[in-house]
Order: sequence, then structure tokens, then C-alpha cells
Amino acid sequence: MSMHAHYEVIGVGFGPSNIAMAIAVEEESPSTRCLFLEKAASSQWQTGLLLANSDIQNHPLRDLATPRNPKSHYSFTNYLFEQGRLFEHLNMGLYYPYRYEYRDYIKWAAEHFDASVEYSTAVTEVILLPAGDGPARFKVTTDSGKVLTCNNLVMATGRTSYFPPVLNAIAPTSLVHGAHFNSIIDRIVSGEIRSVAVVGGSQSAIEIMLYLSSTFPQVSVHGVSRKFGYRMKDSSPFTGQVYFPSFVDLFYNSSAAHKQRLKDDLHLTNYAASDADVLDELYRAVYRDKHFGDNKLTIHNSVEIASAVMIGSKVSLELVSAHSDEEIKSVEVDLVVSATGFRDFGPLEHQELHPPLLSALYPHIAKHEHGEMQVGRDYRLGIIGAPYAGLYLNGLCESSHGLGDAGSLSLVSIRAKQIIESIRCLGEQAAAVAHPMKAEA
Ligand SMILES: Cc1cc2nc3c(=O)[nH]c(=O)nc-3n(C[C@H](O)[C@H](O)[C@H](O)COP(=O)(O)OP(=O)(O)OC[C@H]3O[C@@H](n4cnc5c(N)ncnc54)[C@H](O)[C@@H]3O)c2cc1C
Repeated sequence: MSMHAHYEVIGVGFGPSNIAMAIAVEEESPSTRCLFLEKAASSQWQTGLLLANSDIQNHPLRDLATPRNPKSHYSFTNYLFEQGRLFEHLNMGLYYPYRYEYRDYIKWAAEHFDASVEYSTAVTEVILLPAGDGPARFKVTTDSGKVLTCNNLVMATGRTSYFPPVLNAIAPTSLVHGAHFNSIIDRIVSGEIRSVAVVGGSQSAIEIMLYLSSTFPQVSVHGVSRKFGYRMKDSSPFTGQVYFPSFVDLFYNSSAAHKQRLKDDLHLTNYAASDADVLDELYRAVYRDKHFGDNKLTIHNSVEIASAVMIGSKVSLELVSAHSDEEIKSVEVDLVVSATGFRDFGPLEHQELHPPLLSALYPHIAKHEHGEMQVGRDYRLGIIGAPYAGLYLNGLCESSHGLGDAGSLSLVSIRAKQIIESIRCLGEQAAAVAHPMKAEA
């Protein structure tokens, strides 16, 4: 008999996706024995980019619970009510709340589940145990050497940051991903970093430039983008339906070619584009900078980075024009912020075939032609020879389930319910195979 603690479900990561899962378990399947393992010391939501006064990018009622259960205790509305701020919040007339307030909401929801979460615990390995007589089980090892087993594993570790290969030669201390921007602020405050290049045209890129130029006027900021100009998000209510559950069905059931067409068509709803308010603000900041001759905020649009090399402690970026025969120019900075998005699953250069944590399991996962993992509509990965092993990807399935998956909170509550239902069905199927007579009776 196993000496390890055994759970029906282990969740890896306790960000919004698995917090929504914990809420859904409590409300829909309270007898399910779950444990969540989170490497951070407490529940956090994108603290790497919590810049003052920035707002969230989803309708606040598409929160951790409301779309699945509008009567939930864990809704954003109830959070405001319990904090005594409901009337004041509604009176502000903000369509998108402040990011720090939504972070506090997510933390408030997470704190209800302290008994089911082990914080400061990183999962370092996941393997499949031989099936033996019973259903297959996963063995989960943590950074403290603790070993646990479970029937179902729900991976909600967030996506891997993407850095373009041209930035590979930059020393790690001179390069940071946009999602971890906050980690270098102390070095700006201390005066160690006095010049920054922000690569990319995402909402994060624009927010970082605005934050730097308004908070640290002594820092020179260079915006670097291959587009002619920073672009506006597609905020049409018609394309906004990409965050509907029905879109997930449409996308999931599309052929690979049609998926790609949908991705191209809908890219600007969430990627390489920003809301109008921050673009207007940045344009005015550049205008003021030119007017006063400060030369602290320079935009290099229509450029490709030809090379990025270290010269002493500085990074030298060589920029070539993307849209004309203009000569190369170079920019020297103390730090490069790569606001260049995340890796989805797939065989291409900017993708990855599996979450890094599943490297030991990857050979056992059912795959498509180019090594892409086969993910079910219920977010379950097929495991060869273990039909009742429940391995789920929660919040990582943009390639297979479309734009509302990894890049938005909008569907976390619905997805959690679908995963719980799948776990229940799988358990019933496994039990029916193990005890056929009971199932027939
Ligand atoms: C900067 C940024 C801003 C965003 N803003 C919005 C927004 O305004 N609105 C919106 O709808 N969407 C937004 N998104 C998209 C999406 O909603 C968020 O990425 C959301 O945080 C996804 O939740 P998650 O739980 O899947 O992943 P994460 O929030 O990334 O959580 C993953 C968790 O897993 C933990 N973890 C990772 N590896 C391990 C391990 N090996 N062991 C244990 N724990 C581990 C991490 O510490 C983390 O807590 C934003 C994304 C980013 C990057």
C-alpha cells in the first residue's frame, strides 16, 4: 500500500484558473478531495505587472464564479459588497475596474481555501505510476522532496514567457519579460537602470512605457516595434464574442486551417494591440517630451531588431527599418523589457510542445502529427495505455480552445465546471471497469 498522501485531485498552481476550480468544487462537487500546490508564498495575480492605476481587460462580472453561478459567494459583486464598497464602486462608472482592486478580489477569493492549498510549494516532477490492479495514478514531487499521488492532475501553471531569439545574447540581468517587469523597479529606484528599451506593441508594453515616463522622468525610454504604429485593440462587441463559451466550441471543432484563419482574424482582440486610452496617453506623453526637448521618450516604430549584444554592462540594439531602405541605427540601454507575449502549444519556434513540468510525461501523451498534444474538449490530455488517468490543462489551451482560454479570465468559471464534470465521468467509467457487476446493478 502507498505511504504517500493520496488525493482525488491535485491542482498545480493556484492562480485564477485553479482558484475558480476550487470554488467550483466547493459549489458543485463538495465531496471531491482536492489539494492545490502553489509555488508562491500567497495567492497572487500577475503581480509582475500591477502598475498604478492600470485597469483590467475583462468585464468584471466575467469573474471567478459569476458566469457559472451568478449566486456564488465568490463573485466580484459580493466581494465589493463585503468590503462595503459596492455603492461607491458602482458610482465611479468604471467599465473596467482598477487592476489592484481585481487583484485584491482574487486574493480574497483564494483565502477562503487556505485549508486546501500548500503555498511556497513548487511541483518539480510529475510521472505516471504503473496501473497495477487499480486505476492509473500520478506521482507528484515537490521542491521540498514531498511525494503525493492523485487520480487527477489539473495543471494551471500559466503560460511560459516568450522571448524572441534575437534577444538571446542579452545577459539575464539586462533582460526582463514584461509580465515580470515589477521585479526590476528597485534597480530603477536605486539609479542602476537609467535607460530602458521596451520591445513589442502589447497593452503591457504601452503601460510599461507610460509608467516609466511618468514615474521615473530621469529614465530614458525607447519603444521598439516592427509595426508602423502601435495599434488599437479590436474592441468591437461582435468580435468580443470570442470570449463566449459558444466560441470555444466553434474553435475547438474547426480544422487546423480554419483555426489559423480565426486566430489571424481575431489576433487584435487581445494581442499586439492596446486600449485607446493608454495609446492616447502615450501619444500625448511623446508630444510633451518633444515640446520640452527632454528626449526621454523615443518611439522606434517600423523597425526590426537585427541584433542585440552586450557592450560592457549595456545592451546595444541594432535596428533596421522594416518598411524602407533607411540605414541601420543603434540604441544603447541598461535594460530590455521584452513585452512579447507567451508560448502556446505547438511545433513552431514561438510555441512549445508541452508545459515544461510535463517533460517526463510527454512521451506517454497522445499526440498529433507534429508532436502537438491531443487535448479533449474537456481539457483532458490522452495518455497512452492509461484511459482513465485524468490529466487536465486549465488555462493553457489557447491553441486548441481559442483566444478566450489562456489570455483571459472570462471563461475560468465555466472551464472549471467542465473539468469537474469530466473528472466525475472519468471516475464513474473507471469504477465501472473495475467493478462491472456493481455498475450493471
Ligand atoms: C500581465 C498580464 C495581465 C493580464 N491581465 C488580464 C486582464 O486584465 N483580464 C483578463 O481577463 N486576463 C488577463 N490576463 C490573462 C489571464 O487572465 C491571466 O494570465 C491569468 O492570470 C491566468 O490565470 P492562471 O491561473 O491560468 O495562470 P497564472 O495567473 O499565471 O497562475 C499560475 C500559477 O501557477 C503557479 N505555478 C507555476 N508553476 C508552478 C509549479 N511548478 N508548482 C506550483 N505552482 C506553480 C504560479 O506561481 C502561479 O501562481 C493577463 C495576463 C498577463 C500575463
